[in-house]
Amino acid sequence: MSAVIIDGKEIAKALRAEWKTRAEQLKEKGIQPGLAVIIVGDNQASGIYVRNKVRACSETGIYSEVHEFSESTDQSEVLHCIQELNKNHRIHGILVQLPLPRHFEDKKIIASIGVEKDVDGFHLNNIGALVTGYAVYPPCTPYGVMKMLEKNSIQIEGQHAVVVGRSNIVGKPMALMLLEKGATVTICTSKTTNLEEHTRRADILVVATGKPRMITAEMVKSGATVIDVGINRMPDGKLAGDVDFDTVREKAGYITPVPGGVGPMTIAMLLCNTIEAARRIQSEIVSEINTGK
Ligand code: NDP
Repeated sequence: MSAVIIDGKEIAKALRAEWKTRAEQLKEKGIQPGLAVIIVGDNQASGIYVRNKVRACSETGIYSEVHEFSESTDQSEVLHCIQELNKNHRIHGILVQLPLPRHFEDKKIIASIGVEKDVDGFHLNNIGALVTGYAVYPPCTPYGVMKMLEKNSIQIEGQHAVVVGRSNIVGKPMALMLLEKGATVTICTSKTTNLEEHTRRADILVVATGKPRMITAEMVKSGATVIDVGINRMPDGKLAGDVDFDTVREKAGYITPVPGGVGPMTIAMLLCNTIEAARRIQSEIVSEINTGK
């Protein structure tokens, strides 16, 4: 039997309607959530992602501004821009579009973002909070995956989850979030031997490798939930995931498509984190007023 297709586009649309109401409620209290996006260089894919994020902000009632820098910009200029944004009351969330040019130190750039404005959830303090189970701004892509599982009532506790990929932005936080919800988690990497032995034991399989269609039907357990994070531009210009969708859908219980799966969820959760940042900052202002500080 063919798998149930988890429609990320539809789930994201419903969530965005919710976030819009939240943004309106904040606006009534005098705060419009604001997001600043920094982009360095002219990476075509990054440009598309940034435009999608800006459009999503405007549809949700979130103020946004884009700070563009050329490929040859000195890192100090971007650091200065972040320092200014950290002080800017109009801005509640700051996002630096990755990847950055080679001469940039990603760690330094991310560390310079105020923790309370780190809506991507990549700052070491936010990662630390995630590790200890107190995440405030969970990284958007794995957060979106967790929402997809929740919205489809897919059991996590007691299940065996296998995450293929260990990047700081997807694989590792994904594994931590599944662990937090009671899954037994295996993380696989390019160094894993006999990958299929692990993937075949997964009740929930999350794949984030950037290797088009590498997960085939033989590598998947019957009835498993398969989440495909990968976005790969193929030579014919079309997008493909890391999972061979056409064959795996015949074996899995649930599956996400590419496009229209995890991608729209990532943006939805970015909006969610931005609104949460505005709400937190607003509450602090109110408490400061109440205590007369
Ligand atoms: P990275 O390149 O940072 O990480 C890829 C990971 O996959 C690495 O840990 C690597 O292992 C592992 N890997 C590579 N080949 C294999 C293999 N043959 N077997 C097992 N593991 C392997 O990528 P990202 O995590 O940033 O992104 C992964 C994919 O997800 C990309 O296609 C990206 O475009 C997409 N993406 C999608 C998003 C969305 O919103 N849908 C958001 C972010 C990313 P090792 O560490 O050993 O090298």
